[in-house]
Amino acid sequence: MLFVLILLISTGINRLIQIPNKLVNHQANIKAERVKENESNSKYPDIQLKTFSQETDAYTYSISKPETRSEKINSTIAKWIKGQKEAFLKTVSLSKRIKEVAHLNIQLETNRITEDYYSLVFRTYVIHGAANEREMVKVFNFDVKKAPFLTINDILHLDEKHLDEIKEMIWEELQENKELLPYLNKRQTNEVLQELEEWQWSIDRKGLTLYWDEYELAEGYAGTVEISVPIKKIYVFLQDHMDSYLQMSKEQQVEKKKIIQEEHRKKLTNGKYVALTFDDGPSPQGTPKILKTLEKFDAKATFFMLGSQVDYYPDLARKVVEEGHEIANHTNSHPNLSKMSDAIIKKELDYTNEKIKEVTGISPSLIRPPYGIYNDNVIKYAKENNQSTILWSVDSLDWKNRNGSAIQKIVQNEITPGAIVLLHDIHSTTADALPKLLKTLKQAGYQFITVSQLLDWKGKNGISLYYGSTK
Ligand code: ZN
Repeated sequence: MLFVLILLISTGINRLIQIPNKLVNHQANIKAERVKENESNSKYPDIQLKTFSQETDAYTYSISKPETRSEKINSTIAKWIKGQKEAFLKTVSLSKRIKEVAHLNIQLETNRITEDYYSLVFRTYVIHGAANEREMVKVFNFDVKKAPFLTINDILHLDEKHLDEIKEMIWEELQENKELLPYLNKRQTNEVLQELEEWQWSIDRKGLTLYWDEYELAEGYAGTVEISVPIKKIYVFLQDHMDSYLQMSKEQQVEKKKIIQEEHRKKLTNGKYVALTFDDGPSPQGTPKILKTLEKFDAKATFFMLGSQVDYYPDLARKVVEEGHEIANHTNSHPNLSKMSDAIIKKELDYTNEKIKEVTGISPSLIRPPYGIYNDNVIKYAKENNQSTILWSVDSLDWKNRNGSAIQKIVQNEITPGAIVLLHDIHSTTADALPKLLKTLKQAGYQFITVSQLLDWKGKNGISLYYGSTK
């Protein structure tokens, strides 16, 4: 009896299991989802691939799904795939009247950028009948070991100005595509690029690739859009750590540095830049007032300091550095170096280099010999210390005239873009004359930068003397 009962129950259970299955199969004609696994021998050591496919009377789908060792990466990608699938099934159920079978196909392009950095490009094809087809693209960038996803802000430093520049580059690259060109619209492109989080992108050592869905960028153009901006063009925007992240070669890093410097120089070429220099301080008679004036006119200057003055007024020396000015070596006691022994020259310059470093933390990269008088030993010392020897092209004669309008007249007459102007921050007359002088020069279009910035701009190193531009 018990046996019969067990038999009945088990048969019943069997029936219960079988019947609903049959019903479901009959109703929707589902053939079970097929999963094709490629467990072993993956070409990509950290990623396995599974392909899910299904076929019914109403639709087919086939989806490539990667699996990494990171749960975080897997779940984010799985969530996105699920969303794609649900959106597709929804449109299928809404368009029952259409007789053709609908198709969803999610393809995967795996780009292993470096050992751990992957860029996975998914292409989704949705087909509802012959006339209704759509292609979309989605990119996931991640570090498979550290497991974070990378955003565009992790790789590029894009402030508002940079963003405008890179948009212009992208627009130029897009126009290179002659088939796409008739459908392009700059306003729409700019709008689409506005939201950085929406960018679909990949980056490698060769360039930045950007992707757009079909019709996203150009209404009449069939298919997704893809362009690459060469890496050379975006060196200036790359975050510093990208050198190592992309595993750039030494050669490429050198090239990158050179291009960035060149870009920097080009930008400055359009300006009327001059370098104001203040010697013999820091001094309570002139330096504080001069600093205030410089700040007011958004000007940066270079202070050639005496070691002895730095020793007496360390707070003033620190303030000069804190406010973004350059601090440089003008010897310790202001001797005529051409009359001094090799040992004294070394002592004067060494002491001041060390004093400035001790007080401000900065190792000066410039030397100015007192009175502008030097000999071969001075040049030799500077070269050995990797310092530039800086003279001037405009002497304000403030040390002689002690008169504001005289200073004004001389500088105004002699100044030219690229000039280095000699002034002194030990004279209160100079400090008093500065506001009017800067106002006049600013109105004439001049901007005030440090001597090192001026050297960069001019592509000079000042290793064997630099005077600045003269008229
Ligand atoms: Zn001096």
